[in-house]
Amino acid sequence: MSHLPYISVDIIRKWSNKCPKCGSRISYRLSNGEYGATSIARCGNNIASTRDFPKDKSERSKMKHCEWKGKAVRMRDGGVRFYDTISGRFLIEW
Ligand SMILES: [Zn+2]
Repeated sequence: MSHLPYISVDIIRKWSNKCPKCGSRISYRLSNGEYGATSIARCGNNIASTRDFPKDKSERSKMKHCEWKGKAVRMRDGGVRFYDTISGRFLIEW
């Protein structure tokens, strides 16, 4: 990724924190509070991001699995936006 597109503050827009593929909550870890800091964001349905991984095989197979991966980006206001590296866009809910 070269550089992030300029983002204007627009109160009409609602930033999405949901996976663009399946609509699950996005899980991420971004401790850096500096503007422009990034980390990997994953769909909460991704097995790698699930903490309570069921030991039982049949329970595991019932779990939905989603491969979406993007970026969590710290914004000027201290909030976190999610960036879809495939579409090259920030996730926005209108
Ligand atoms: Zn997903």
